Amino acid sequence: MDIDIGRNLQTFLSTIDQNKAKLIAVSKTKPVSLIMKAYEAGQREFGENKVQEMVEKHEEMPKDIHWHLIGHLQTNKVKYIASFVHLIHSVDSEKLLRTIDKEAKKANRVIDCLLQVHIAEEETKFGLSDEEVKLLVSPEVLDGLPNVRIVGLMGMATNTESEEQVKKEFRHLKALFEELKSTTNHPRVTMAELSMGMSGDYQLAIEEGSTMVRVGSAIFGQRNYSA
Ligand SMILES: *Cc1c(COP(=O)(O)O)cnc(C)c1O
Repeated sequence: MDIDIGRNLQTFLSTIDQNKAKLIAVSKTKPVSLIMKAYEAGQREFGENKVQEMVEKHEEMPKDIHWHLIGHLQTNKVKYIASFVHLIHSVDSEKLLRTIDKEAKKANRVIDCLLQVHIAEEETKFGLSDEEVKLLVSPEVLDGLPNVRIVGLMGMATNTESEEQVKKEFRHLKALFEELKSTTNHPRVTMAELSMGMSGDYQLAIEEGSTMVRVGSAIFGQRNYSA
């Protein structure tokens, strides 16, 4: 059955306060023809979790799109996106941050990054501990990395029916965000964006202070990985 992406998008946007949280439309696994429907309806921020897929879509699609890399990023793939990526949500190691700086320099850019914090109970989700986050925003690390800017934090809550659990995890991330906002004064750190919330928990995330929700299936429909 055909789905009306434009209408899904408008319906979704009517459920959020866009002054508080911006929509990153997660288009992974979806074809350009479908993503263009969202573009035609006015959407410009798109999220992808695989480098190769993002590169191909960037080549084919209009150049005023802001591409957000939201999935785990391997250091040897940074070079493919350094020239155009708008925001990397998933910085989860110092090694990766150093590689982004190096490739950004080659591309003559400063790349905006979010530090991904491990807030879920699941072991499988990537992310830094609070202590590792604090180390990465220190002058000892950042002074040597002039081509990256840390503009906020990202987190993924546990995939659970328990609203209390999800709320607790979002609150933890928000508290760390506020702590860093009041304690860091490095010129290349601004706690401006808090990327949290997906199709299943975006309303809770916005209530808890999200400024960016990463929403895929609620707009584009379920993903079919076997296709
Ligand atoms: C796929 C993905 C999303 C979107 O998930 P939906 O449940 O389809 O909204 C958000 N964030 C990350 C990191 C993802 O990989």
